[in-house]
Amino acid sequence: MSANQKDSGVRVRFAPSPTGPLHIGGARSALFNYVFARQNQGKFIVRMEDTDLERSYPESEANILSSLKWLGIDWDEGVDVGGPYAPYRQTERINTYRPYVLRLLNEGKAYPCYCTEEELEAERQELISRGETPRYLGKCSRLTADEREAREREGRKAAIRFRVPPLHTLVVDDLVRGRVTFETETIGDFIIIKSDGIPVYNFAVVIDDSLMKITHVIRGEEHLSNTPRQLLLYEALGLKPPSFAHISLILGADRTKMSKRHGATSVVAYQENGFLPEALVNFLSLLGWSPPGEQEIFGMKELIEQFSLDRVAKNPAVFDSDKLRWINGSYIRQSTTERLVELAVPYLKEAGLLKQTDQTGDAHWISLLVEATRERLGTMREIADEARVFIGTRVEPENDEAAAILEEETVPRMIKAFRQLITDADAIEVEWTRTMLKQLGKETKLAGRKLFMPLRVALTGRTHGVELYYAIPLLGRENCLARTRRWQ
Ligand code: GLU
Repeated sequence: MSANQKDSGVRVRFAPSPTGPLHIGGARSALFNYVFARQNQGKFIVRMEDTDLERSYPESEANILSSLKWLGIDWDEGVDVGGPYAPYRQTERINTYRPYVLRLLNEGKAYPCYCTEEELEAERQELISRGETPRYLGKCSRLTADEREAREREGRKAAIRFRVPPLHTLVVDDLVRGRVTFETETIGDFIIIKSDGIPVYNFAVVIDDSLMKITHVIRGEEHLSNTPRQLLLYEALGLKPPSFAHISLILGADRTKMSKRHGATSVVAYQENGFLPEALVNFLSLLGWSPPGEQEIFGMKELIEQFSLDRVAKNPAVFDSDKLRWINGSYIRQSTTERLVELAVPYLKEAGLLKQTDQTGDAHWISLLVEATRERLGTMREIADEARVFIGTRVEPENDEAAAILEEETVPRMIKAFRQLITDADAIEVEWTRTMLKQLGKETKLAGRKLFMPLRVALTGRTHGVELYYAIPLLGRENCLARTRRWQ
């Protein structure tokens, strides 16, 4: 932190469970927290909530961290960088939670529960069949000391349940949703420590947010229903809760919750499909937040300047893939050729399109390809399809309309002249091609569509595509001559 930057005391966190790759919703939560921290000269913390042992994987944690970095999000404290409240991985904090559990047990605010899975399931079914909300009805809360001992002797392992106070109204003044109230009747006593000694999310999150001095919890709306449980724990432990901001769900185009059915959901999939990180950040920021002005394209810096929680909408955000592609295209157009070349190479390699031209080498050819196609690209992956047009010595008209264009009577004469110019050329570059096309017009007394359309179809098979002064150097002499061989 530089000397003129005061620490505002604002502390926010992104606390993913490493049960899979970083997905779009998580990335948006991370982004909003990051931006909020930076805007308020606060601290941004990345904590791993890995207490679901069966579903947590180190690879997921690595993926989450690398996707965050790729997006340009960095953090002040976290699993990999440490910090004053380390460790930042919940499974490494088990001992930290212990005194809080003991306190709740000693004060009678929590109790051991010996119910088996089968007993709990039977209770659930019973409540469902009566049309009631399934919840724990508190069987073990009424056990006497002797009854507990008997169960211990049987070797039963106890989970620890929090005793939910009856007839209690909980109020969340959510920074996005406004005042939300919950009645405790609908909440059964809930487990805070599982029978294997591992704390559950709702418990660990409270202790950690409190110990890590988190001031604002900005997270997905799916956690709103967890908030009353967390508030009860804050209350029972005499801890001050943070402010809450629950950001709306992300829906697919059909207005159902965004899932794999709607296409890629992980950040890494977007990275692999040729999206630029700035584009994804820009797009994610618009999922639920709206900038104060008209401008829709802005970078992280502007986002940090403009972001505010009161412009975060309550209603769900709809994931519009066309808009993402459009935003991405605009970032592609703004990028340097150098950067795009670097990004293009893996797609061209994957498609097997490199080292197949008679050009001065791939590097030159790829930058030409980038310059020729950048206006047309929505993703960098699309460059492979654009490139394919220029590879190989054979070409067929794409449809009847294209085939008919080649039957025009001026075509053989024009193409013969073209072949001559190509044959005589020293090197086929963009500037040379521009001049050559003028020359061809003069020689054949053809202009405009009459000249360019048949030439385009003869060379590429298509009626649309990149400018001819790019297409011809991209094809190179060998392909140009081979593809026009029938008119020689
Ligand atoms: N571990 C939770 C999740 O991944 C985080 C919830 C929270 O931010 O409190 O959804």
